[in-house]
Amino acid sequence: MSYQEAFPPELRRYYRKLFGREAEEIMASLRTPVEKYYLRVNTLKTSRSKLMSILRKEGLKPKRSPHLKKGIYFKRGGPNFPDEYNPDLPVAMANKFAAESIYQGANLYAPGVLQANRKIKPGDEVEIRDPKGLLVGVGIARMGAKEMMTSTRGLAVEVTLPKFKLPSLNELESFKEGLFYAQSLPSMVVAHVLEPSEEELIIDMAAAPGGKTSHIAQLMENMGEIVAMDKSKNRLRKTKEELDRLGVKNVKLIRMDARKLPELGIEADKILLDAPCTALGIRPKLWEGRTPKDIEATARYQRAFIRAAVKSLRKDGVLVYSTCTLSLEENEANVRYIIEKGLKLEEQSHFIGSQGMGLDDVQRFYPNRHLTQGFFIAKFRKVG
Ligand code: SAM
Repeated sequence: MSYQEAFPPELRRYYRKLFGREAEEIMASLRTPVEKYYLRVNTLKTSRSKLMSILRKEGLKPKRSPHLKKGIYFKRGGPNFPDEYNPDLPVAMANKFAAESIYQGANLYAPGVLQANRKIKPGDEVEIRDPKGLLVGVGIARMGAKEMMTSTRGLAVEVTLPKFKLPSLNELESFKEGLFYAQSLPSMVVAHVLEPSEEELIIDMAAAPGGKTSHIAQLMENMGEIVAMDKSKNRLRKTKEELDRLGVKNVKLIRMDARKLPELGIEADKILLDAPCTALGIRPKLWEGRTPKDIEATARYQRAFIRAAVKSLRKDGVLVYSTCTLSLEENEANVRYIIEKGLKLEEQSHFIGSQGMGLDDVQRFYPNRHLTQGFFIAKFRKVG
């Protein structure tokens, strides 16, 4: 499957209309993992230089981000083979979720196996493909075909040659000690743009799994108060685990529909709306399922959060709106909606992306230009 076929035809047409000739480059980049894989140093527990030396001792090759003082990145390995490898090898098919992980260097575990060639025995070299046939990695079977299809746990294939290789960080001692949070570069810019300070009341309207909440807490040095909410029980459980691991102490977690925020009756100094979105900018995409219809519906959903945010922000308060998507409707068009609601668009203190479409002060990250996830950030003030 070519990279074009990984996107529904109506989305391809949408991208061509919006981005012109650059659309092809954008789609090709979305198909691959990010070239630089970032993490954020948790300054509540350590410094960048200390963490760099710990990571080196743990066998990694960390590099300093030239953009952010607390950013560290690792270079992506691969591609390790062209589209095909050895068509004579038997195939194990992984589900989309597992295939995306293998594509970036993970092993294949039994719950991720959808189908396996009946001939596969432990010790055989096998190809791993996603449900649409894309080769994501090659490895050695650690189970026979029947076992890998029926087991609910255990290593099915040890991946020896993934298509790409990103470092696996979650097993490191430094991870368990909470010394860092793996976070994309544009996501890290968001909390800086919000410029939280120690005495403020901050609301994070869509907080799970807590990446930006914990960054805001870090910039506030665990002072002030962050009210962080999400509607998903499971994702909030994960958020609590992450905040505990990182030593964050100034966050009140609430499970609620953020569109009902005004019912809490609080007026925030600053609000972050890292909105649920179509996530068109997330890399890698083995294939994309969303279409322009999803874009329309999601942009409408986001406007309900925007109305709630505007009501719950104090006069002179700041709203930062961000998404990890590429569409116009969820980004610049919603910025215009926020301006119509009476907020003023402001310049951003950290600006390493590109200007927006027809709007200079908003920040867009393009996967092909900035070699990051596709991302969008806008900052507003409630004036008058
Ligand atoms: N800010 C998070 C971070 O940096 O780790 C990522 C947030 S993710 C882009 C969007 C979140 O919105 C999801 O966790 C989802 O559960 C949540 N969400 C979706 N609809 C919601 C609603 N009506 N109220 C509250 N949260 C919602």
